[in-house]
Amino acid sequence: MPEGDAVFRFARKIRDALQDQVVRAAHAQGPGAVPRAERLIGATCTAVTTHGKNLVITFDNGLALRGHLRMYGTWELYKPGEPWRRHPNQARLVLHTDETVLVNFSAPVIELHESRALDTYRPLTYLGPDLLDDAFDPGESLRRFRDPLRAGATIGDAIMDQEIMAGVGNIWKHETLFHARVNPWLRVRELPDDELGAIIAKARELLRGAAGLAHDAHGRPSMYVYARAGQPCRRCYSRIRSDVQGRDIRRTAWCPSCQPVREAQELVPRSHARSGGRPRRGAS
Ligand SMILES: [Zn+2]
Repeated sequence: MPEGDAVFRFARKIRDALQDQVVRAAHAQGPGAVPRAERLIGATCTAVTTHGKNLVITFDNGLALRGHLRMYGTWELYKPGEPWRRHPNQARLVLHTDETVLVNFSAPVIELHESRALDTYRPLTYLGPDLLDDAFDPGESLRRFRDPLRAGATIGDAIMDQEIMAGVGNIWKHETLFHARVNPWLRVRELPDDELGAIIAKARELLRGAAGLAHDAHGRPSMYVYARAGQPCRRCYSRIRSDVQGRDIRRTAWCPSCQPVREAQELVPRSHARSGGRPRRGAS
């Protein structure tokens, strides 16, 4: 699933190809197709920006495209006449400039708006501070973590809540909590401010590195727990565990030694009893 860093890298490529270029042809198709995409013909692209996992392409005629890729969507760039790497039936939007063909494949969300309407458009305005924004405000994200309505959420769910901080998806949820040595089933109220602050800082560090914004960035680092259930931990060689977590019933993986269940932890993964992790107080 494209996360903030991946959308950021898509945006950089699209900006390089489209900025200051004139749209010569525009075509939308498929479920949820942009109505009247031909309104973009003749417009010049003025900006390509990201807002968490949203990508916004702005044009000089007052229109802007918003795309959200969710699980399966992608953006690809081609030269005119170059064969596509995906089936044309999957194309949702195609924009031609003189030198580039931009194709959005399979995005469930691709919309055309008046640019100024985006300033008050709920899918963008509800977002918390953007982890990839130079002006990212960790104190604001901490304040949002501390919203009483979120106190009972597990950190494994809350860290992906785009209203707290925008950009983290399933991959960086896993890796951030591993590096912060935090068990994903801890509730937000069980984590002191300094630990939440460390989680915020680590998420930002990992996303910035993967987006190519860090000084020593080399793309995505090797994963420690994401998609590694059953394999040995790269740090301590314990076997990585996984269990179902959250509203969307995805599996969360963690190292039972590096991210142990804590004494008095309110909620433990169902597999904890057989996980080989530290038993709860009183357990035999
Ligand atoms: Zn470990």
